[in-house]
Amino acid sequence: MKESETAAQFDVVIVGAGMVGASLACALAETGLRIAVLDSQAIEVRDVSSDSFDPRVSAITAASQAFFRSLGVWDAIMARRASPYTDMHVWEADGTGSIHFSATAIHADVLGHIVENSVILAALHERLMRYDNVTLLSPVTLSALRSPVAVTDAGTQGLVQLSLADDRHLSTSLLVAADGANSRVRELAGFNTREWDYEHHAIVTTVRTELPHQQTAIQRFMDEGTLAFLPLCQDGGAEPNDQHYCSIVWSVLPDYAHSLMALDDRHFAQALQGAIENRLGDIADVDKRYSFPLRQRHAAGYVQNGIALIGDAAHTIHPLAGQGVNLGLLDASALAKEISQAHAVGRSFADQRTLRRYQRRRIGHNLGMMWMMEGFKQLFADQPLPLRWLRNAGMTALDRTAPLKNRIMRSAMGIE
Ligand SMILES: Cc1cc2nc3c(=O)[nH]c(=O)nc-3n(C[C@H](O)[C@H](O)[C@H](O)COP(=O)(O)OP(=O)(O)OC[C@H]3O[C@@H](n4cnc5c(N)ncnc54)[C@H](O)[C@@H]3O)c2cc1C
Repeated sequence: MKESETAAQFDVVIVGAGMVGASLACALAETGLRIAVLDSQAIEVRDVSSDSFDPRVSAITAASQAFFRSLGVWDAIMARRASPYTDMHVWEADGTGSIHFSATAIHADVLGHIVENSVILAALHERLMRYDNVTLLSPVTLSALRSPVAVTDAGTQGLVQLSLADDRHLSTSLLVAADGANSRVRELAGFNTREWDYEHHAIVTTVRTELPHQQTAIQRFMDEGTLAFLPLCQDGGAEPNDQHYCSIVWSVLPDYAHSLMALDDRHFAQALQGAIENRLGDIADVDKRYSFPLRQRHAAGYVQNGIALIGDAAHTIHPLAGQGVNLGLLDASALAKEISQAHAVGRSFADQRTLRRYQRRRIGHNLGMMWMMEGFKQLFADQPLPLRWLRNAGMTALDRTAPLKNRIMRSAMGIE
């Protein structure tokens, strides 16, 4: 790629205006740096539908809520739609092991909020449109990039050069890849990843249930996968009448996923009702279903000369604990802090010292969470009887050990 003299120049270019990339852009906007955010999809503020829910939702932890508040978007999220949940009940298919987590046990109002991804994006994109120093480019496709040259261990020479498919060129001191699990930036820049197939597909949809969910997330672990019902509300869910919708995430073996996807709504609802052991009565309605293959992926390093990976571009994790985007938001927060601090004292915010500090702050935490999820998945895979007994006894013992259980709860909420 030729260095273009007509390239538009920025301090930071973020590829990907998803929840993580858009959050980073909001976090950096007040620094006055010249920022470009580009996405292959339209960056826009979509209305929230009043009569249906987005099938993609995220369980937002207290830590992510605090981050959104600091970006000035939490009120805009709540004003659109967010569903608080106060309890979580997890049990094992054999029915002998179970754990109940409750916000009251740790003197909190809620354990978290289930929020539609489109609601989070609308609030973030709306916020970004206010800033004169933030340029939004969409829909655009990245076609090539050239990294700067390393001159010393900490320093680089030149800018990162980007070419877009419409023949526009950009150059930037720092390129941030927030372009999701199949990151094109990660591929073009030659980052190594370790990845493996979970041999599971996740089916997601919204259902209406006969019984109210009582602001409780429920999850059943089975040999062949996990099934979660995440409570949704139109109006904050204080009224039981507003507690009959749930977002479901059902992760199963690929063949079973194909057969579930092939069922008509009535038969799918019956299968779902059986799998959740009828806990919410009849499944009255099922919205359109989507299925995703699940892959775990982790980049060996998150930074190179002038380039950093964040969010799913750096790591993708099994959705069973609902931590994926929460980890990505912690990446965005950590990288924004490093960049802002360096910029405030006149240091280069794109040099290796700054970028490695970001990497050190995040890589161990993300890896720890990924190994924990992998351990969970293995623990609940088809196991011989004595192991199952141990697992169920362990779950029940944990349920009775309040200090440890409360610690796990706080850690999952990102507040410890
Ligand atoms: C079934 C399922 C359920 C989940 N549930 C939860 C949950 O409850 N809680 C939770 O925390 N996480 C959950 N996750 C994970 C969560 O959805 C992801 O971690 C999160 O979406 C990652 O955000 P991101 O911004 O990094 O990437 P993405 O959301 O993938 O956004 C990437 C953005 O980059 C853009 N893009 C992609 N390629 C290019 C390109 N070449 N050029 C320009 N733009 C590009 C895309 O259009 C998109 O806007 C779940 C995941 C799945 C599959």
